[in-house]
Amino acid sequence: GPDISLVKSGKLTTCTHLPYPPFQSRQGKKIVGFDVDLVDLVASELKVKQEIVDTPFEGIQSGEDLNTSTCDVAAAGMTITAVREKNLDFSRPYFEATQALLTRKGKPYRTLADLKGKRLAVQQGTTGETYAQKRAVGATLVQFEDLGLLVSAVKTGQVAAGINDNGVLYDFVKDNPDTDVTAEFSTGEKYGIAVRTGNDALRKKINQVLADAKKDGRYDRIYRKWFGT
Ligand code: GLN
Repeated sequence: GPDISLVKSGKLTTCTHLPYPPFQSRQGKKIVGFDVDLVDLVASELKVKQEIVDTPFEGIQSGEDLNTSTCDVAAAGMTITAVREKNLDFSRPYFEATQALLTRKGKPYRTLADLKGKRLAVQQGTTGETYAQKRAVGATLVQFEDLGLLVSAVKTGQVAAGINDNGVLYDFVKDNPDTDVTAEFSTGEKYGIAVRTGNDALRKKINQVLADAKKDGRYDRIYRKWFGT
């Protein structure tokens, strides 16, 4: 039967923040993506279904959603950071990322110094926002609640550039050839799946599933499905 001792309600509930393709996005009525497929492996190991809850990133990364039991896990292309580790517990890393810069094609913005006196889009509560606050000296930061709003602000020219994780920006550029990724900043980030503080049983189960999936080819298959080759 299902192993429901690790989850709160006979389902594995996942907090995430849409849209963040290719990690999570809506496709018709379904929510699909790399993170969705990885957490499905955990759900199937527990013999339960995954149910996804779309909620603001702020409550995910602050630990609030997990610690108030809104969800069993959070999977949101979320970077493991020392600050976040005080408020939630992360699995082993499952993906690597760096901050990157999105511009309209042909614009001369390749470094943060090039954005002095310009408008730079950041996504609220993210590592990209924190990086820009420290490094984009002299730029005007314009905050957006989600990735969809950020990339469309760049595309329509409301801002000179936007900062976000490389994986999502390269995914956007594929379908939007009027935009370009002009820089990567080597921030050396690693994504983790989060559980509420102290939920070691579930965290260990996730680590075991990730390790097994890396060994037996399921992780590679999911990687190729969402990133190609
Ligand atoms: N990886 C970034 C962070 O953790 C962005 C995550 C997101 O916007 N979903 O802050």
